[in-house]
Amino acid sequence: MHADEALDLASLARVLVGVCDSMVASIDDFTHADQAIGDGDHGLAIGRGFRAAREATLSHPQTDVGDLLDGIGLAMLTSMGGASGAIYGTLFRRGGRGLRGRQTFDADALANFLEEGLAGVRERGGAKVGDKTIVDALEPASIAARASAKGPLREALAAVAEAAGEGLQRTSDMRATLGRARALGDRAIGHVDPGALSFTVMVRELSRLAEEAW
Ligand code: ADP
Ligand code: MG
Repeated sequence: MHADEALDLASLARVLVGVCDSMVASIDDFTHADQAIGDGDHGLAIGRGFRAAREATLSHPQTDVGDLLDGIGLAMLTSMGGASGAIYGTLFRRGGRGLRGRQTFDADALANFLEEGLAGVRERGGAKVGDKTIVDALEPASIAARASAKGPLREALAAVAEAAGEGLQRTSDMRATLGRARALGDRAIGHVDPGALSFTVMVRELSRLAEEAW
């Protein structure tokens, strides 16, 4: 297997700790996005969740990829609160469920993670594409991952980050039909969704830091 086709468990854990640091460094962006169309706490929630995820990843050794992702999801569920705590916790816990026993994270594992995570998020929150939520970035990311699941992880991550970014931009033209932004009606137009923004930053950083790991 070529180096850019997968990350082993230890490399994935290292890259994810770096992603947590990047997310914590970006909390002002998430706060500002949520101040525009929500209650302004998305940066705080992301800060709590990704700090807890970082600690969980560093503090106990993981047996496999599913275990690593589940530990991150559990840390998020118990630390973040709010809508995004349930959403991110579900994304990682459900996304990791099908990856039990795997020692490497390849493009197929990425597709499995995003597809299952998306299914969990949709069941939990009932959002579909067009509702101006994280799903508007997550669903296109999941589709892009499946389309590149047979190639190198490097290319799949780049495709996922690009698809998420395109979905994020589309949220700017949407009214919200769920969550706090619903009350704003047309005033939500012109602002991206905070959860779609944080998800996009997360997958961009995953792609960038994986690149550095090779
Ligand atoms: P809260 O809405 O409790 O203040 P946050 O501000 O941390 O929580 O997160 C808001 C983000 O959560 C939204 O921008 C949206 O992306 C996501 N979100 C809210 N409700 C849902 C839902 N039902 N399904 C999917 N994502 C949701
Ligand atoms: Mg909020």
